[in-house]
Amino acid sequence: MKIISVAIDGPSGAGKSTIARAAARELGFTYVDTGAMYRALGLAASERGVDMEDGEALSGLLAGLGMKIEYIDGVQHIFIDGRDVSDDIRKPEISMAASKVSARPQVRQALVALQRDMAKRQSVVMDGRDICMHVLPDADVKIYLTASVDDRAERRVAQLKEMGTEVSFEEVRADIEKRDYDDMHRETSPLCQAPDAHLIDTTGFTLEQGMDAVISYIKEKAHVL
Ligand code: C5P
Repeated sequence: MKIISVAIDGPSGAGKSTIARAAARELGFTYVDTGAMYRALGLAASERGVDMEDGEALSGLLAGLGMKIEYIDGVQHIFIDGRDVSDDIRKPEISMAASKVSARPQVRQALVALQRDMAKRQSVVMDGRDICMHVLPDADVKIYLTASVDDRAERRVAQLKEMGTEVSFEEVRADIEKRDYDDMHRETSPLCQAPDAHLIDTTGFTLEQGMDAVISYIKEKAHVL
């Protein structure tokens, strides 16, 4: 069977992970959340007091972390040193740490190699910031998923609330704006819509409408199912 890759990029809180996960389940592909990898390194760096501007120190940390991705009941779990950090990496302060460590070229090089390796072995729906242009430039399907900053902040507040973390809308909105700016203006692989990526703007959409838009585009484009 042909191995198919679906690449989805977009800014924080556009619903990428929820939608990409649902699409992968529907298509029988593996979902790869690349943000989780940057988050896990950001978590380790903040716990161990490693300078997040120091690319060499971060790549040394990454090399010794034993970062592992496993699928339990079809859900991606990420481990560092044998510890499941899938929940810890979702904390708001770790979002900023992930964004910081992701700006270091040494970090990106190492994680991109892991991501490409995963896509070589199986059909994937992979989401992130640089998947269409850099990680999987030959992906069969490319999507740029976005929504307004307000919509994205509202969704993130609801998501964090569900996980038991109370945060203010203004705080989350400011955090998202800062991360958008940093992700779009960094030197290495800044976030942008690839010229050959299909734009899906989910502003005002329910989650189901977002999922339908993405899944039907993938099916049409990849001629699957
Ligand atoms: O997608 P998520 O919000 O979990 O990503 C956390 C951070 O990791 C992003 O703000 C971004 O800085 C970084 N990231 C990246 N490249 C990716 C995925 C995430 O730089 N492919």
